[in-house]
Amino acid sequence: MSTLFLLFLLLLSFPATAAFDKAEAWRLCADLSTKGQTWTPTVNPSLFAYSEEFLRNTNARATHILICASDEPSADLAWSVLVGKGFEHIFVLGMSRDALTSLGSHLRAVVAHEVGHLVVNHTGGACDNFTRQKRNDDYVLCEHDADWVAMNWIGKPAMLTLLRTLLHHRERNFAPREHLENLAKRISLLERAP
Ligand SMILES: [Zn+2]
Repeated sequence: MSTLFLLFLLLLSFPATAAFDKAEAWRLCADLSTKGQTWTPTVNPSLFAYSEEFLRNTNARATHILICASDEPSADLAWSVLVGKGFEHIFVLGMSRDALTSLGSHLRAVVAHEVGHLVVNHTGGACDNFTRQKRNDDYVLCEHDADWVAMNWIGKPAMLTLLRTLLHHRERNFAPREHLENLAKRISLLERAP
């Protein structure tokens, strides 16, 4: 038996499966998002392309990208997690339908910010932990770290435009005062960033 044939048999016994199948994609979207919100897998070529673009700038070595979306009005605007699974690393990006429709031309900046979290080693929900602990200033600095990375990729004007658009969007939606103040602080930090 030739070595090549043995190799072929070996490949047959370990079929090349994707890092995740459809069922697992649904499970990842549901489990990784904020509890109580409904997130499901979605196909969005733009978000996929932006994720690929910025992941190339990191050493995260993501082997797969999964996009999750939520129709719920109260859903978080965007979130991201890098899931390790053996030799595979799945970059999971969540984006609310509200963000998808209202932030159209700024979505590249949103994705840059989300991938930026990976660069500064923010694991899933790292900044949100500060809000839970009522450490507001730490939360703002944590988000600013990701803003800063994104700014270096897409430029300060594009990143500032995103944050100002978000601020106006949240003002229109009567977001809690604290959320507006946090965004205003992130804008001011970025304006002063070298
Ligand atoms: Zn963030």
